[in-house]
Amino acid sequence: MKQPKVHKIYNPEAECMDRETRRSLQNKRLQETVKLEYERVPLYRARMDARGVKPEDIKTVDDLYKLPFMEKTDLRDEFPFGLLAAPKRDIIRIQGSSGTTGKPIVSGYTQNDVDVWTEMVARAITAAGGGPDDIVQVCYGYGLFTGGLGAHQGADRVGAMVVPMSSGNTQRQIMMMTELGSTMLCCTPSYATYLGETVNDMGLKDKLKLKSGCFGAEPWTEEMRQKLESLLDIDACDIYGLTEIGGPGVAFECLEKHGMHVNEDHVLAEIIDPVTEKPLPYGTPGELVFTTLTKTGMPMLRYRTHDICTLTDEPCACGRTTIRMSRITGRTDDMLIIRGVNVFPSQIEACLVDLEGVAPFYMLIVDRINSTDKLEVQVEMTEEMFSDKIGEIEALRSKIADRIKSVVGISAKVQLVPPKSLPRSEGKAKRIIDNRNLH
Ligand code: AMP
Ligand code: ZN
Repeated sequence: MKQPKVHKIYNPEAECMDRETRRSLQNKRLQETVKLEYERVPLYRARMDARGVKPEDIKTVDDLYKLPFMEKTDLRDEFPFGLLAAPKRDIIRIQGSSGTTGKPIVSGYTQNDVDVWTEMVARAITAAGGGPDDIVQVCYGYGLFTGGLGAHQGADRVGAMVVPMSSGNTQRQIMMMTELGSTMLCCTPSYATYLGETVNDMGLKDKLKLKSGCFGAEPWTEEMRQKLESLLDIDACDIYGLTEIGGPGVAFECLEKHGMHVNEDHVLAEIIDPVTEKPLPYGTPGELVFTTLTKTGMPMLRYRTHDICTLTDEPCACGRTTIRMSRITGRTDDMLIIRGVNVFPSQIEACLVDLEGVAPFYMLIVDRINSTDKLEVQVEMTEEMFSDKIGEIEALRSKIADRIKSVVGISAKVQLVPPKSLPRSEGKAKRIIDNRNLH
């Protein structure tokens, strides 16, 4: 049921605006955001003061480089409300994601922020061919994670019939998909592939009415797209976002499927060299940095995503005039995304530090089996545990598994291994073996 390539645009005025007009809108919005941040957020004001930068020094997008960066650790240090630029009573929603250690990071959204986010996802769904005639099955998780609610709000805004399934329960997903005749799917690409494989195994492919989907929240490759498209006979479009900037929809693919259009009236994208922190030109891969232009709850200035990609301003056949970002080709830190959940090795470490019987040596091994990510955590036991307390090993193992589940939010297979059995390295410890081939 793949669709003929007809480019539908949700908000042509914003998405196809001529670039000069958009640039002056960005300049105005940037000035407002910097002023707001300086006046309301002590951490950021101190950082600007330390650099001798005043809000008046930021007049245009070209002045952006003068501003200090923000990082995920800022959200952790100021958890939960320290970075709010709006009074708490104006915050109508909290969304969250994994932090680098035990504590999650949260972002507060005002009504304005939820409206902007909703519009961004509406643009994405429209770009993937969606509209009022569609039945959109949302199988991203609903909750603190922005995937479920984000896709839901966007599909709702375009006037589609929304089926809020949330994640998991594949048999029920397939039953609803075939009975209701869902035409669009929103979930992670790996879960969509798993759904596709299961539908084919059940011999139900002929019963599907699916035509396209918005798939994101984790890295995927062009080969994975081809596979997913043929399994479900759909157009599979990429969608990108992050909690701190505004959830999914920050950038999205149109049916041309060659890069994600950045919603440039709401966010500014830069690419920097992650080491020198200097801006890089379009076409050069580097770390993606975002500045929000319309967020009022928790605006972000020069937020380092640690995602690696390239930007291009080459025109797109769909008619949108926004710049596009490539697929995410890697990270500048050690964050993994496992079943759509961000996982940092430091979180695993936080689960182990105060436990007796384990040494501070561990290894994360990630595999993708039947399109589903599996995490195995190997932890070294202490000599004492290994030689004198064999009877307590099982209890320790299940305690670690429980902690990982509650801190990281996903189940892991935990293995306790003998002392000194994990490889030691002289430089930076290698704690991850990722066998998934995602880039
Ligand atoms: P979260 O805030 O939990 O939604 O996580 C945001 C992170 O998920 C981003 O910084 C990316 O690393 C990753 N991510 C989201 N969408 C995509 C995508 N389409 N492709 C690759 N990675 C993605
Ligand atoms: Zn396009």
